[in-house]
Amino acid sequence: MNKLIIFTAPSGAGKTTIVRHLLKKYDQLAFSVSATNRACRPHEEAGKDYYFLSTEEFKTRVENKEFLEWEEVYDDQYYGTLKSEIERIWETGKCIIFDIDVKGAENIKKTYPDNSYAVFVKAPSIEALLNRLQNRKTESPASLRKRITRAKEEMKYEKNFDIVLVNDILDVTLKEAENIVENFLQKED
Ligand code: ADP
Ligand code: 5GP
Repeated sequence: MNKLIIFTAPSGAGKTTIVRHLLKKYDQLAFSVSATNRACRPHEEAGKDYYFLSTEEFKTRVENKEFLEWEEVYDDQYYGTLKSEIERIWETGKCIIFDIDVKGAENIKKTYPDNSYAVFVKAPSIEALLNRLQNRKTESPASLRKRITRAKEEMKYEKNFDIVLVNDILDVTLKEAENIVENFLQKED
């Protein structure tokens, strides 16, 4: 069966860290590369971390119905999963792993209720989230405020997912994430 495992969380909770670890450990997983119109960060690679599109190109693809789901996650910042990405990965026989916002995660779960599993990653507190985003040094003060405001809203959605993973001590979290993935991969078709 074609499978999808989704990691969703407020920005800064640690989902990218967790997803990268899982991808290194499990060859059966393949990352769903999203499209976005935001700028490429240092250390990010086009086609690997995201497909970086101009705003115009993103909107054209929306009009052409090329997205399985898309969201304006922050003002004028669009993110979405291309249908072609899902097809590309399933052709390889791998399980797709997503790093995606809460609404996108809900949409994917609704589209694939029988073969998806969604993990909500949570920082131990809002203070920890703020610290992590500051330490990551990728956000301007304005963008940091946007992310914290949105994070408070997103925390309300945790009940909508299959499991909540509290990311406090990273090593413990990574072990728990491994158990979640192994159970899901072993599940009978
Ligand atoms: P997200 O993808 O959810 O926005 P990241 O994976 O980018 O989050 O993590 C945000 C920052 O917090 C990164 O700098 C990361 O190294 C750090 N981080 C992740 N998990 C932990 C943890 N358990 N304790 C402390 N820092 C963490
Ligand atoms: P960042 O700019 O930190 O990489 O991502 C910002 C937010 O957009 C994160 O919550 C991330 O999970 C989310 N995101 C990334 N790709 C997608 C996508 O394809 N669809 C949706 N809905 N959200 C996404």
